[in-house]
Amino acid sequence: MLGGGAAGLFCAMEAAKHGRRTLLVEHGPEVGRKILISGGGRCNFTNLDAGPQHFLSENPHFCRSALARYRPADFIALVEAHGIAYHEKTLGQLFCDGPARQIVQMLVTDAAAAGVRIEVGCAVESVEHAGRFRVRTSRGDFESTALVVATGGLSIPKMGATGVGYRIAERFAVPLVPTRPGLVPLLYGAADRARFAELSGVSTPAIVSCRGARFSESVLLTHVGVSGPAVLQASSYYQPGDAIDIDLGAGRDVYADLKERRQAGSKALVASALAAFLPRRLAQVFADLGADSRPLAEQPDSALRAVADAVTRWRLTPEGTAGYDKAEVTCGGVATAALSSKTMEATAVPGLYFIGEVVDVTGWLGGYNFQWAWASAFACAEAIGDRPARAGPARPPAVC
Ligand SMILES: Cc1cc2nc3c(=O)[nH]c(=O)nc-3n(C[C@H](O)[C@H](O)[C@H](O)COP(=O)(O)OP(=O)(O)OC[C@H]3O[C@@H](n4cnc5c(N)ncnc54)[C@H](O)[C@@H]3O)c2cc1C
Repeated sequence: MLGGGAAGLFCAMEAAKHGRRTLLVEHGPEVGRKILISGGGRCNFTNLDAGPQHFLSENPHFCRSALARYRPADFIALVEAHGIAYHEKTLGQLFCDGPARQIVQMLVTDAAAAGVRIEVGCAVESVEHAGRFRVRTSRGDFESTALVVATGGLSIPKMGATGVGYRIAERFAVPLVPTRPGLVPLLYGAADRARFAELSGVSTPAIVSCRGARFSESVLLTHVGVSGPAVLQASSYYQPGDAIDIDLGAGRDVYADLKERRQAGSKALVASALAAFLPRRLAQVFADLGADSRPLAEQPDSALRAVADAVTRWRLTPEGTAGYDKAEVTCGGVATAALSSKTMEATAVPGLYFIGEVVDVTGWLGGYNFQWAWASAFACAEAIGDRPARAGPARPPAVC
């Protein structure tokens, strides 16, 4: 098992439960480092509603089989069996009540009980295949009859991301879908930065759209761009050069609302009217985009229309994303067309498996990515478990 993240840990544990001798190799100082920082330190470990519609992939049906065979309820049962308290925050998202380390401890405890050998501080350098897989690492060579690549993507290099999984895929001619940062803040262009940087720290409910995907959650403005759940979700659909559309009215008919207030003879300024549903600083900047300083009652239709459009049809053409340093996930990766959706095995390379984030399956924000890690790992572990381990003379691990 290459990579001691969510998918690797879970797969190692399950494969060992299925009777395979399993070695897990992790180059970081400890396993599960992304789990530790996930969900703001509380690990959003699954989503009650997780289904194929919550994932991006060149083949949106690929994840269906694995997700159907290992469901959120299965992971919840494991969490409950370990006495880990949790709660639903919003939209089916389940978080630990306590620290995320509880999830790592649960996986490590069960993996150890099942007999998994874990090697940390052990970097995978290359993989060869001649009858068996031979993995060259910073701590020597290992051999195995099956090899599971669970080395994640490129997001957050300081947490251990290396992209070695893609190099292994290339080495075995397994095709890749080009990668890009996902669940990532988007950066203003120079003109928007000059106009909106002063709004840094403002957050408000909104609807954000990109390439036909629409997300109704909150938006956070920063000094360099836009972030917050709705933007992060849309960012996974964003391609360089795209515009994103932000409805700061969150579905409200702002034009009708302003006209109604004007008809009622409101002496308020336009910014004050907007402040009924927008943070005051945001209301002021967007009022100034369409109206002058006269009270609402003196504004012509054209000004109210301009303000309403500015608020509800804020179109941003980002300069780009904040990159892999800030991205929660990596979109793209090992092409699903080259893998079995039942087992995660590379169809052209018997014994070679890819699971978790290294695969071109990317979940929305909200516990979906961990559910994919557990489900793809489980599918793989079941497949490996179905195969009797072949004992070699030097007894190399059956699964590396
Ligand atoms: C800040 C943050 C918060 C997140 N919060 C959530 C959340 O709450 N809910 C959710 O569902 N998802 C969340 N995610 C996404 C989730 O963490 C990932 O989708 C998930 O960890 C992917 O699991 P994985 O095992 O495939 O990859 P990873 O967890 O990235 O594990 C890959 C492992 O491989 C190791 N590795 C890499 N290269 C080598 C090498 N050469 N040799 C040996 N080992 C190597 C890495 O060190 C790492 O331990 C979050 C991500 C981030 C960055």
